[in-house]
Amino acid sequence: MYSEDLYKTDPEIFAAVQNETEREHGGLELIASENFVSEAVLAALGSVLTNKYAEGYPYKWDKDTGQLDYSKYGRYYGGCEFVDKAEALAIERAKKLFGADHVNVQPHSGTTANMTAYFALGEPGDVLLGLNLSHGGHLSHGHPINFSGRFFKVVQYEVDPNTEQINFDTLLKLAREVKPKMIVAGASAYPRTMHFDKFREVADEVGAYLVADIAHIAGLVAAGLHISPVPYSDIVTTTTHKTLRGPRGAIVMCKKEHAQTVDKVSFPGMQGGPLEHVIAAKAVCFKEAAGEEFKAYQKQTVANAKALGSELEKRGYRIVAGGTDTHLMLVDLRNKGVTGRKVERRLEQVGITCNRNTIPYDPEKPFVTSGIRLGTPALTTRGMKEPEMARVAELIDELITNIDDKDAYPAVKAKVAELCESYPLYPRRRAEYKQISSV
Ligand SMILES: *Cc1c(COP(=O)(O)O)cnc(C)c1O
Repeated sequence: MYSEDLYKTDPEIFAAVQNETEREHGGLELIASENFVSEAVLAALGSVLTNKYAEGYPYKWDKDTGQLDYSKYGRYYGGCEFVDKAEALAIERAKKLFGADHVNVQPHSGTTANMTAYFALGEPGDVLLGLNLSHGGHLSHGHPINFSGRFFKVVQYEVDPNTEQINFDTLLKLAREVKPKMIVAGASAYPRTMHFDKFREVADEVGAYLVADIAHIAGLVAAGLHISPVPYSDIVTTTTHKTLRGPRGAIVMCKKEHAQTVDKVSFPGMQGGPLEHVIAAKAVCFKEAAGEEFKAYQKQTVANAKALGSELEKRGYRIVAGGTDTHLMLVDLRNKGVTGRKVERRLEQVGITCNRNTIPYDPEKPFVTSGIRLGTPALTTRGMKEPEMARVAELIDELITNIDDKDAYPAVKAKVAELCESYPLYPRRRAEYKQISSV
């Protein structure tokens, strides 16, 4: 109904939206950080809440008790009655979902959430110990070109060359040497369990704060399928758009003693007005994530990742760290004589989307890489299970085996399309767009 207005006003943007919807339906999405949100989340995102300025919070901190008080007006603008309700729901649902003392739901992105965490616990120039990007870490964990690397004195830890997992003895030794103000525990490409309890032990040994970044695994943590960092960390950040399957954005969770500082650093420290339409969509996401269906979904996501990994192993691929405990894996392509870049590009030509990724101690440049990262959250949302993962592995292998034979591509592409057709994505939306653009 509303898309018709978009079509009339701006047919070019309408086309971009329609084509992207068809692309998402018509291909196999294996990017580990992507997912498909529900129509309920999309409805909140596309609402008039985007119109509202609401700098501040839906509560005030009581000076005497140090408690958060929803009965007091904490905004710098009038008219916040209803966005206050939405933001309070988001906060209370997130607190319950993760068992956190306090949650700030305003960060626009995972990177901003990390910025908030670092500036709540430290000052520019402090030593920050984070996982190296090419060993699975994230840009915002101390890469020199990122804000984190420019504001903090960064020391990076790496995974063990033999196990390709974090070695806590090595980490402790390094931490004793460099005496970090904070340790960041989290990753974008780490397939094994993040032992937050062991990170806490290291942090305690050297008197450092512990920041856990669960951007990737938040859905697994919410479903109880991965050890929660909340009891062990001073601050926990997460995006809401990866396994958590909410809108693009992030939250910061923290212990009571950091709550007011986190709020102050987030606004006015890092951001101006919050995106209340996104916050409302986060609230919807947290409600969905508290349900039994979501737990079953996360369980299937992990089962699918294990299945996809072992099906690839059967076909001679080496899975980094020997497999996965989560929703993602890294595939070492060196024994197949192809690079990550080549495979990423060629897979895209048959409708399989993933990203090239460095493997630990990668001999190739980060722009080329020896690996690809594969994740199952998106395909699992479509309803695919273990038999389909076997099929996906078969198609990936068929393409890689025939990578220099372009005549082999149409057959793979047709099989990809056929599989996707059996698991329709956004059917109502696609039908509506088709109807509008065909008149
Ligand atoms: C994705 C990710 C982020 C950043 O999220 P953006 O919203 O893209 O800024 C931060 N940390 C980790 C570990 C991530 O995987």
